[in-house]
Amino acid sequence: MNIPAQPGSTLYDSDVFRMACRQFDLAADLIALPADLRERTKLPKRCLTVTVPVKHDDGTVRVYEGYRVQHHLSLGPTKGGIRFHPSVNIGEVAALAMWMSWKCALAGLPYGGAKGGVAVDPGKLSRRELEGLSRRYMQEMIPFVGPNIDVPAPDMGTNEQVMAWMMDTYSIQVGNSVPAVVTGKPIAVGGSEGRREATGRGVAHLVRRQLEAMGIDPRESTVVIQGFGNVGAEAALAFREYGMRIVAISDVSGGFHNPRGLDLDAALAHVSAKRSLAGWNGGDAVTNEELLELPCTVLVPAALERVITPANASKLRCRVLAEAANGPTTNEADLILEARGDVEIIPDILCNTGGVVVSYFEWVQDLQSLFWTRDEVLAKLAVILDRTRESVEKQRRKIRCTRRLAALTLGIGRVAEAKAARGLFP
Ligand code: NAD
Repeated sequence: MNIPAQPGSTLYDSDVFRMACRQFDLAADLIALPADLRERTKLPKRCLTVTVPVKHDDGTVRVYEGYRVQHHLSLGPTKGGIRFHPSVNIGEVAALAMWMSWKCALAGLPYGGAKGGVAVDPGKLSRRELEGLSRRYMQEMIPFVGPNIDVPAPDMGTNEQVMAWMMDTYSIQVGNSVPAVVTGKPIAVGGSEGRREATGRGVAHLVRRQLEAMGIDPRESTVVIQGFGNVGAEAALAFREYGMRIVAISDVSGGFHNPRGLDLDAALAHVSAKRSLAGWNGGDAVTNEELLELPCTVLVPAALERVITPANASKLRCRVLAEAANGPTTNEADLILEARGDVEIIPDILCNTGGVVVSYFEWVQDLQSLFWTRDEVLAKLAVILDRTRESVEKQRRKIRCTRRLAALTLGIGRVAEAKAARGLFP
């Protein structure tokens, strides 16, 4: 018997959570998901809010608020990154956890989605303060995470070093080394070959496949990238390998544009020395808003969510929108782009899936203490990316919908199927 849908949660209410829910509702309607499965497939299973006190170098103690949301437990442990960024809030973390669920299910990984974060600007912390924050956040999470429970990874503002501190904090607590408790670690403590570059390379791989499908030669193509962090910079390097020209990049401090192509090595050296692109002189300065409207073949948002909005959707001058960031396109902007019909979107839960796929490889290698070469990792990654992309194209043809809805219906459908098979608990 179908029961009426329960009212939505208010705990997570925010623009980005409503956006994720709207996407879910559209996809659920398209596959006629039964009412008694809808709310329990959509809403997060559980969340934890913690306060994280950190002693700063000037002797003061400041308290930061942190979160972890585990979206569902129906397919295995939960999996998802930890974000350190000033705008983190529980609604954003919940939306990101939902997207992780659909992404993992779409790629066929045995995980539910999760996400965590702390509202903090890591760029303003010293290394010692960052270590204190990372270790204390993990300390608070110990009853809630573990290789068979919830396996965090890096996201915006966190990196391999942060994952090493978290793995160490967990391991000290349980009394033995537990590398499988987090992924995205340095190779020296059980990280995987290929993990650092997995998300960015995966983005570039899927873009190349899309260009092939459109009959566009990569060597004739230009790329604009918003966000020159782990994902944006690694994608840029992979695009360069394919012969594509990177004409604009940016970070939180602003962007640079040169239609003849940017010197990536110089940009990377500047960021490594100064922790930011600010002060670089490799191109004409542009704002992050202007950058999104530059003419290019491929536009890659690789920073925050909700940057493609009704204000700029009609002004994009790209052929392909490759969503390396999670949730960069609002629901309203999606409708504008669909009506335009001249921009091919590679949706986030497909486009950036390389990261969680190689995180899965890292977890598997840690659990069996048997490690693969970089070539093995990247070859296995390419197989999963191509298979996932093909499944989305097939679904798109079958139910005649956008690429985003094709990807969402597959991911959501698999989670709902597992819930229906198991019952009410997970
Ligand atoms: P990162 O912290 O390494 O880099 C983020 C970049 O975005 C930095 O250059 C930062 O300066 C820039 N940025 C921050 N705020 C900005 C703003 N308001 N405007 C413009 N630029 C801004 O983070 P990352 O790991 O590269 O993650 C980037 C995106 O990719 C996020 O949306 C994340 O959720 C997504 N993602 C990351 C992974 C991963 O493996 N790291 C996997 C899947 C998806």
